[in-house]
Amino acid sequence: MTHPMDPALSPQTCAAETQEGGRKPTCKAFTVLKLCELAYREITKTPLYYPEGQLDEAPLREHLFAQKCEPCLRWYRNALRTYQRLQRAGKLPAPSPQPASVLVPAPEVRPFEPVDRPVALLSMSGSNSGEVFYSAGSVEQANGLDGLRLVLTCRRTEVRSSENPHGWELTLEYPLQDNDPALLREFDDCLARFRVRAQSDETQQREVRLGLVDAGLVSSPFALARLDPWKLQAICLLSRPTSDARP
Ligand SMILES: [Zn+2]
Repeated sequence: MTHPMDPALSPQTCAAETQEGGRKPTCKAFTVLKLCELAYREITKTPLYYPEGQLDEAPLREHLFAQKCEPCLRWYRNALRTYQRLQRAGKLPAPSPQPASVLVPAPEVRPFEPVDRPVALLSMSGSNSGEVFYSAGSVEQANGLDGLRLVLTCRRTEVRSSENPHGWELTLEYPLQDNDPALLREFDDCLARFRVRAQSDETQQREVRLGLVDAGLVSSPFALARLDPWKLQAICLLSRPTSDARP
């Protein structure tokens, strides 16, 4: 490394000064060169003779600042002053700025794309029973709720209304036994909007709240209205689930 070095602080001088009978000896715990190195690093924030990582600064600092070794401190301070002077004269590198905190690119937020998940009637649905089960197909490369195994349960209730004349309700269930519990927990108490489609192409949309129970993550039931519970075809999550506070 070439740089303008005060003759008083050249390695040759440093070495000579540590010899017996030197003009200003150190205590010999450390060479003058090391004291100069530390001072140089203090001023320029860059190494001088010792490559980065090849000078253990801790014992040196301990010797100077904790033990306050006077002969060594004198060398150190002289070196500091010299390097400051050289730096002011533009002969030494200016201290490099603190490394900027590494810029972490913001995670890519892809626009949410609703995808229809076709549903398949499960054979355990008895033709006369008040319950009909479907399993939703997986979505390729899906994450979030669309990446989880999903079962749809249609249940006949006695609650009839003009909006839901047959009383069928649909509950969505992400079973604990088929899904990563940690992922299920992420959506506990979230609101999610779904659209169910039947073979007739009629659809029903509803925002439901998802909650974690023993069996898994389940939705509040919603009315199937005029959809035929035996002829469901697809379910679609319409937007990212949100964890808005309950009104
Ligand atoms: Zn010393």
